Amino acid sequence: MLKGKTALVTGSTSGIGLAVARALAADGANIMLNGFGEAAAIEKERAGLEKEFGIKARYSPADMSKPAEIAAMIHATEKEFGTLDVLVNNAGIQHVANIEDFPVEKWDAVIAINLSSAFHTIRAAVPGMKARKWGRIVNIASAHGLVASAQKVAYVSAKHGLVGMTKVVALETANSGITCNAICPGWVLTALVQAQIDARAKASGKTVREEEIALLSEKQPMHQFTRPENIGALAVFLASDAAASITGSAYSIDGGWVAQ
Ligand code: NAD
Repeated sequence: MLKGKTALVTGSTSGIGLAVARALAADGANIMLNGFGEAAAIEKERAGLEKEFGIKARYSPADMSKPAEIAAMIHATEKEFGTLDVLVNNAGIQHVANIEDFPVEKWDAVIAINLSSAFHTIRAAVPGMKARKWGRIVNIASAHGLVASAQKVAYVSAKHGLVGMTKVVALETANSGITCNAICPGWVLTALVQAQIDARAKASGKTVREEEIALLSEKQPMHQFTRPENIGALAVFLASDAAASITGSAYSIDGGWVAQ
């Protein structure tokens, strides 16, 4: 479906971003990877995408907290592939503390990477999408884009902001062949979350499954994780022609978290 199109996924060297990049590549898109990590591991993923899916993949090391690097990444993508058709804003970080203890530099970093980076990528990518009369923008927000949790002031503010940005961009591009939507995951089983569960099980002497249920049931009625591949499949759907009239939406994929 996406053969001949180009997708850029920010923060795609691990977790959800990598799964989204893989799903878009499986659908035929050329891929621009981005994110931090070991050079050898990133090169292995890049070359692996090309081999497994017969597409072209490149990597940008741009730091999503640096507007000039973001602009250069968008230009490099359009230069390398000729187009940028699918933009997935996924890079994100977290910091947990009460507001009175929240370090100012952590606030600035979370807002820069989780919110402002999407402003910078979208504003640079939209002119090309408008000129080609086709584009798909998918913002990876969170259940925390719709509801709050204590001690996550920067993350919740950024993700609510990202859902708002999604709506504004949808309105501004409504008749340009472009759609802009947000995906709002609940708990997703990434390496980082698995490590937290393993540590809880080790400390408590309970089983991994018991600790999984304990972690999930604090927020989710469904005691099951969303898998990164599930987010990838939803992103592919939102990039498809079947989703051509879906814009400005925030799709929950959260085991019922925000239904409560
Ligand atoms: P992760 O830590 O596995 O991946 C984050 C990615 O962002 C990595 O590739 C990392 O290198 C990259 N990154 C971080 N800072 C960057 C920067 N300054 N510049 C460029 N890249 C940077 O995390 P994940 O769980 O896969 O999260 C991905 C997105 O999904 C985030 O926006 C997160 O908020 C969101 N999300 C995750 C969950 C979950 O349960 N894991 C739930 C809801 C939303």
